[in-house]
Amino acid sequence: MAKEFPTVRAMVEALTPSYPVYCLRPKVIADTVKRFLELFPGRVLYAVKCNPHPEVLKALYRAGIRHFDTASLPEIAQVREGFPDAACYFMHPVKGRAVIGTASRVYNVDTYVIDHPRELDKILDETDGGEGVTIFVRVKTPPVEGAFYHLSAKFGAEPDEAAAMLREAKSRGCQVGIAFHVGSQCVVPGAYGVALRLVGEVMEKAKVDLAGLDIGGGFPAEYIGTNMPPLEDFIHEIEEGVKALRLRRDCVLMCEPGRALVAHGISLVVQVQLRKDDQLYINDGIYGSLSEMVDAGIRLPARLLRLKGEPSTEMREFTMNGPTCDSLDVLPSTFSLPADVEEGDWIEIDRVGAYSHALATRFNGFYPETLVTVHDEPLSQQR
Ligand SMILES: *Cc1c(COP(=O)(O)O)cnc(C)c1O
Repeated sequence: MAKEFPTVRAMVEALTPSYPVYCLRPKVIADTVKRFLELFPGRVLYAVKCNPHPEVLKALYRAGIRHFDTASLPEIAQVREGFPDAACYFMHPVKGRAVIGTASRVYNVDTYVIDHPRELDKILDETDGGEGVTIFVRVKTPPVEGAFYHLSAKFGAEPDEAAAMLREAKSRGCQVGIAFHVGSQCVVPGAYGVALRLVGEVMEKAKVDLAGLDIGGGFPAEYIGTNMPPLEDFIHEIEEGVKALRLRRDCVLMCEPGRALVAHGISLVVQVQLRKDDQLYINDGIYGSLSEMVDAGIRLPARLLRLKGEPSTEMREFTMNGPTCDSLDVLPSTFSLPADVEEGDWIEIDRVGAYSHALATRFNGFYPETLVTVHDEPLSQQR
């Protein structure tokens, strides 16, 4: 059980932490999930890899998430053992044979993604196959200007290959579906339309009934400087694209958001260990919770927390250095903080729920692992 505090400030007063602390706001997660469940015209799966922390999964489950996009046996075990009435979907296109067998026999997983014909053979060898198994074929989508990660660079079949695999899976007795992923932090709704037209092309070639259509994740979170349309615009684009496909009535529409469900639900409290002019040395960095500041160029809102005395109202830009001895461990964009920030002050960095803890390493002995629950409002909507 995570410790609980009314506010982030109360946590700092109680723990005076010299180590980084994640502050989970279950209400923010619940509000976000509610919006997604209301707006998305289908099944909402949470992509576990984005943040598999047990408290995060619990908050999502309590908010109403019952379907999980999983990519490994540990993820499947964690979900199925923690929430016996939740369903796991095995959405990694490349799986170990023994892992498929265990997922099927032990954890009752019946939905799998493939992007190559040999993967279908593996699944049919290791499961009972037939109508009880649904095979989603992942199609490659074109790169999107405005998505940080191009996930089709690694996975996905061309339309002809995809159509052939759909026919093959169907002829061998399985139910079939089509899946894609437009790329993470995709701020362009049109990317979903482009991908759905590609799905139409594949359907035309394959001429098989689809049991499912999975439009993936990629929905953005609002970081500083993110210029993004509201979720409604994405949903509208998806609804229009799906309508044009004339799916069978019983075809299940699914999405797999990771980032958009959890980014705003967690902040990170770090402590200033030393100040040198406009350089601050803090206790978390690019090998810990903040690698996406480098890899995806995201910028995060922050505020100063000081227990004794009021910080200056004059603001200044500071460069933040991570705790490891590596000279690369410097955050690539500056933070605006009170000009008199000093050693011992704390800084709350917001919107770190996605791809933070999940990507943290133990490099140099630093590892962010403390998580508490708080109930105050998040930092004001800084843009
Ligand atoms: C990573 C991933 C997701 C989640 O992506 P977000 O950008 O976090 O929404 C969903 N589906 C698949 C197959 C993924 O690999």
